[in-house]
Amino acid sequence: MAEGRYIKHMAFAVNDAALAWQQYRDFLGIGHDGRMEDYEKSRNRVVLFEVGGVEYQLCQSMDEGGRYDAWIKERGQEGLHHICYAVPDIEAALAEAQAKGGTLKDCPACHVKGSHVHPEGWVAFLEEEPGAIELELMQVYTAEELEEYKAVQGI
Ligand SMILES: [Zn+2]
Repeated sequence: MAEGRYIKHMAFAVNDAALAWQQYRDFLGIGHDGRMEDYEKSRNRVVLFEVGGVEYQLCQSMDEGGRYDAWIKERGQEGLHHICYAVPDIEAALAEAQAKGGTLKDCPACHVKGSHVHPEGWVAFLEEEPGAIELELMQVYTAEELEEYKAVQGI
């Protein structure tokens, strides 16, 4: 059942996205094709770039007490915050997870449990965190769906 499942992105909680981005460029020579975005809805500043087909997201809260700021303070350090896994059918994937005892969790940006629209696909979160890494699932939109949901921005 692993078919069609891959890492969509890895999100790192950082205090300073611009600084972390600079460090990846300087010390690893990666991220030169990246970009920095401010997402108003979730109040996150995010640097995005690709490493070996996996999207890296360097996530900084724009406000004190925001999602990533609070996480860093609670944990005492920056780090790998969550991994988003692409799944071919999110409803089926969630049903399977729940059949094994998995529990749906509120989306931190939208406060919705279970599958709901995001800019790049349908997204859901689970309460369970293997290895203390938050689990995000995404059914990535087809080109047609991307067009249909293009008004969904800024999360
Ligand atoms: Zn959401």
